[in-house]
Amino acid sequence: MNNAVLHVADVHKSFGGLRALTDIDLQVEEGTTHAIIGPNGAGKSTLLNVCIGRIAPDTGAVVFDGQVITGKKPHEINQMGVVRVFQTPEIFPELTLLQNVMVPAFAKRDGAFRLNGVQSALSQNDIREEAEHWLADVGLKEQKDLIAASLSRGDKRRLELAMGLTQHPRLLLLDEPTAGMSRHDTNSTIELLKKFKARGMTKVIIEHDMHVVFSLADRITVLAQGRIIADGTPDEVRGNPKVQEAYLGGTH
Ligand code: ADP
Ligand code: MG
Repeated sequence: MNNAVLHVADVHKSFGGLRALTDIDLQVEEGTTHAIIGPNGAGKSTLLNVCIGRIAPDTGAVVFDGQVITGKKPHEINQMGVVRVFQTPEIFPELTLLQNVMVPAFAKRDGAFRLNGVQSALSQNDIREEAEHWLADVGLKEQKDLIAASLSRGDKRRLELAMGLTQHPRLLLLDEPTAGMSRHDTNSTIELLKKFKARGMTKVIIEHDMHVVFSLADRITVLAQGRIIADGTPDEVRGNPKVQEAYLGGTH
């Protein structure tokens, strides 16, 4: 595949005697939504952490946009456009929605802006506008002056996505983005992710909820006990007996 944005090449990772990832090879193509599914403990979060530089693989490499990123620091990988959305939304609960989005937008800008008071004030206006733009994009503009703690789980996820958008993601990684959500919030998250997909954004999504997986995924990789047991289109994976077996024999 020439248009792979992300290539995980032959990755192994053990924690002591536990083989969390064995022989992992997968490619994520530009513009696609690639789901990673599998029973609890399969190694999904470990794989994501390897991709963002939080966990170093024992062997193998991760290539993003043609560059080996294994060994780079998480913030360096983030600056390259790899943005991760966490299982529990990481927001500043005591700040307003607008302030929440201004923080990463500000951090993204060149530090030189901060040297001059006038420029700094100007850039603040800029950043406010930018933050408002991203809040509108996720459907939260009206609520911009609310305190983030007051939001529903689904709206916190929207806010976190708006914060992620300030980083201009080339690849968005989502670890169980609908965990703990009501059906209503889950569906609205699906709609938002579909909107990003229509724009051509490349996404990797770890998800338990099969409704979410089959609503969004172009391709599915199934992990069990640290190995890839299936990889293919949703239809191919759905009918795969190994996958059904892994779920029936899983820990949940
Ligand atoms: P999943 O996200 O698919 O539920 P994880 O990647 O979190 O699975 O975990 C895979 C396996 O690795 C599990 O057996 C888990 O207990 C183990 N594991 C994950 N992180 C660590 C760690 N930092 N230290 C030791 N064991 C870990
Ligand atoms: Mg996990």
